[in-house]
Amino acid sequence: MRDEIAKRCATLRAKINAAAERANRAPESVTLLAASKSHSSDAIRAAFEAGICDFGENYCQEALEKIAALSALPITWHFIGSIQSNKTQAIAGAFQWVHGVNRVKIAERLSLQRPEHLPSLNVCIEVNLSREASKSGVLPEDVLALAQAIVQLPRLRLRGLMSLPAPSTEYETQLAGFVQLAALQKSLTAHGFELDTLSMGMSQDFEAAIAAGSTLVRIGTALFGPRTG
Ligand SMILES: *Cc1c(COP(=O)(O)O)cnc(C)c1O
Repeated sequence: MRDEIAKRCATLRAKINAAAERANRAPESVTLLAASKSHSSDAIRAAFEAGICDFGENYCQEALEKIAALSALPITWHFIGSIQSNKTQAIAGAFQWVHGVNRVKIAERLSLQRPEHLPSLNVCIEVNLSREASKSGVLPEDVLALAQAIVQLPRLRLRGLMSLPAPSTEYETQLAGFVQLAALQKSLTAHGFELDTLSMGMSQDFEAAIAAGSTLVRIGTALFGPRTG
């Protein structure tokens, strides 16, 4: 397993770097986050040894166990799942980043519950680009108000936007969604927000995401193989 993960990691990093160069961007401007839900602590350790320092988890209980098991490693943990309000305390205490903030109430709880001895919690606003009712995330027209609320909160640091666009195998369709998120980020910057993170792109569409300006791609399957759990 270790060799397989190391090999996939190298292949992936080469593809990320090539996509960045095609977009006239510095390869190091794109962070590779390993989306490790359902994968073991050993798999995470193998990816860490292959050079990945950022890991994303979706389920609180599962994540807390892995974070405890791997506490000796200097990993940056990102919560990338959907957040229920009864989980905000555990999330605020264990993660450095939360990518799916989509309501003021959740943001307020995270800020209130962020332990004093830790630095501010880095957050991204999740945007529902495809406007599907089944999807979480705020609608594009509501992003500005949520951003204004978040920057008032003392223990949060707003870093940017994240999205999970409707899956597509067409490069042009993928690109169109990501370009929309990048434009939204630009409009926030024009309002004076200091943002440095565009969390977009997964195994199927990270090259289009990088072309549109992604600074952080969240990759599971292409790194760890298919999820079984
Ligand atoms: C699982 C997951 C990913 C990774 O998806 P893959 O298609 O396996 O690369 C990225 N982002 C989020 C929010 C996820 O839940």
